[in-house]
This record gives sequence, C-alpha cells and structure tokens, in this order.
Amino acid sequence: MHFDLITIFPEFFAGPLDHGIVRRAREAGIIEVHVQDLREFTKDRHRTVDDRPFGGGEGMVLKPEPLFEAVESLLGHGVGDASKPGAADPKTAIVLMSAAGKLFNQEAARRYTQFERTILICGRYEGVDERVAEHLATEELSIGDFVLSGGELPAALVIDAVTRLLPGALGNEASSQNESFSALPSADLPLQPNSTSRVSSHTLLDFPHYTRPAEFRGWAVPQVLIGGNHAEVAKWRSAAALEKTRRNRPDLLAKE
Ligand code: SAH
Repeated sequence: MHFDLITIFPEFFAGPLDHGIVRRAREAGIIEVHVQDLREFTKDRHRTVDDRPFGGGEGMVLKPEPLFEAVESLLGHGVGDASKPGAADPKTAIVLMSAAGKLFNQEAARRYTQFERTILICGRYEGVDERVAEHLATEELSIGDFVLSGGELPAALVIDAVTRLLPGALGNEASSQNESFSALPSADLPLQPNSTSRVSSHTLLDFPHYTRPAEFRGWAVPQVLIGGNHAEVAKWRSAAALEKTRRNRPDLLAKE
C-alpha cells in the first residue's frame, strides 16, 4: 500500500509515522510513505500556495493549481479539465482532509485497505479551493466533529488506522479482529435486558483489559479473569464490552 502526503509542512511527518506498528510496517515494506512538499508546485518567487477568498471574509484559501499539479505529478498523468475530465483509477484514492468531509471511522479504514495507493491532501488556513473537492479528490474525509488547524494530523491518523488493518502489520493476525468497532457475530452477544432478541449491532467497544498486579492499591482485577475458565472469561468480556459501549457510546447501540 502506497501513501502520498501533500503538505506545506513536510517535516511534520518526521515523528508521527516513525513509531511502533506504522514504523515496522514501513520497514517491512507493507506500506510506503512519500511526503510531497506542495510548494514545489508553485511558480512564483514567494512560493505562494494560498490566496484571499472570493466573496470576502476571513483568512486564506489554498489555491487549486499547485494541488492539481502535485497530484498529477504523483499520478504521472493529467486529471483533465472542465471540458475533458479524466477517468478515475479505481485502485487509487485521492483524499482531501476536511472538517466538512465524510466521517472517517473503522469501516472507512477497512474500505481504504482495498486501494493500492492513497494520496492524502492536507489543507491549511481556512481550507482548500472547492474545485479540489469537486474535481480532484475522490473523497473528502473528516476525522471527527471538531476543527483542527491543518490536515496533517488527520492524514497521519488515517495512515495509522489503515496500516494496522493490513495483513502482517500487527504481530498477531487476530488482534485487529477483537478491537473496538470490529464486527462481533450477534450470537456472541448477551441478551439485552427486557428483550428476547440479541443486540443486532455488530459494533461494540473493546472489552476492558487488565494486567498484573492482580490487586493494585486495593483495586482487584475481576476474579473471573484469574480463574482460567476460558468460556467464563469470554462471557465476561462480551458482557463487559456491551456494558462499556452502553456507558460510553450508547449511540453505537441505538443505531440498529
Ligand atoms: N474552514 C474550515 C476549517 C479549516 S481548518 C471549516 O470550517 O470546515 C484547515 C484544514 O485543517 C482543513 O482544510 C483540513 O485539511 C484540516 N482539518 C481541520 N479539521 C479537520 C477534521 N476534523 N478532519 C479532517 N481534516 C481537518
């Protein structure tokens, strides 16, 4: 899987992508990450990437020309214009990071594992000329309902979430299957109180984890986890995951 990041702050990514699972995935060749400085695609002495908004108002907007040219240079071909739009390559995603985008979640992360290449465009200032969203990007993605000052953190987050789902990225193949937001067969879920049907939602948060010491400052680990009865442990874990989901994210259960 190949990731390209288009940014005005290339040095930003020295750090976030150099640790743990993402670093190992890069070293193992599971992912490749290329950071593209947007300013290489400017033509003036000041290397201008932004301009004032049409219609007036606060702040500056990233200009379309350098962004289109940066993507075209990465793709190795043009993306066309209004009179002759180019055809999209189904194996390549061109993503604009945007607070106004579609919500990125675990399901979206799974979807992105299917692409061979993902180009992530990091906005800054007030945002990006809308023609980038309309005619260059294949999708606009938001990482949550809040506004950050740039698309670099969101892009690093997308790379992290997608990478850990790629085969071989986690030491233990099974481990991404039992995490928060992963699918659980509904037969594994305990019955809902006051209901005879099992929860049909397949999305739960992770169950709570404990490690040694078994008693810490008087707080003991749930006894069932120490007993060594695997069936009882599994039962406790699915009930605890459901309880935690109900407490922290009732919206996940209300969806169905
Ligand atoms: N005026 C915009 C915010 C611009 S913030 C608005 O109100 O929607 C500057 C840049 O930060 C954006 O172009 C985008 O690339 C990035 N950004 C900010 N919040 C984000 C979020 N929640 N998800 C993804 N990208 C975000």
